[in-house]
Amino acid sequence: MKLLLWAAIGFIVVMWLLRSNKVSSAGHASGTSSTANKDKLIETMVQCAHCGVYIPASESVTAASGKVFCSDEHRLKHVGP
Ligand SMILES: [Zn+2]
Repeated sequence: MKLLLWAAIGFIVVMWLLRSNKVSSAGHASGTSSTANKDKLIETMVQCAHCGVYIPASESVTAASGKVFCSDEHRLKHVGP
């Protein structure tokens, strides 16, 4: 009886692992609902107005003029102190 219980638990764990693997691989290839989740994970990339490098929006520095820069140094170079 105990062996049967462990077999059932093992089966559930294997099924759970297979399912989670399937979900992640499907999301990697192409999916309908998983693509939306992926878009949330991938941050918006912005281009530095000074050197043209692409940086995540959260790491960018926005000047008063609305232009985006990769660093405060480039913002100062472009706008002036
Ligand atoms: Zn820059």
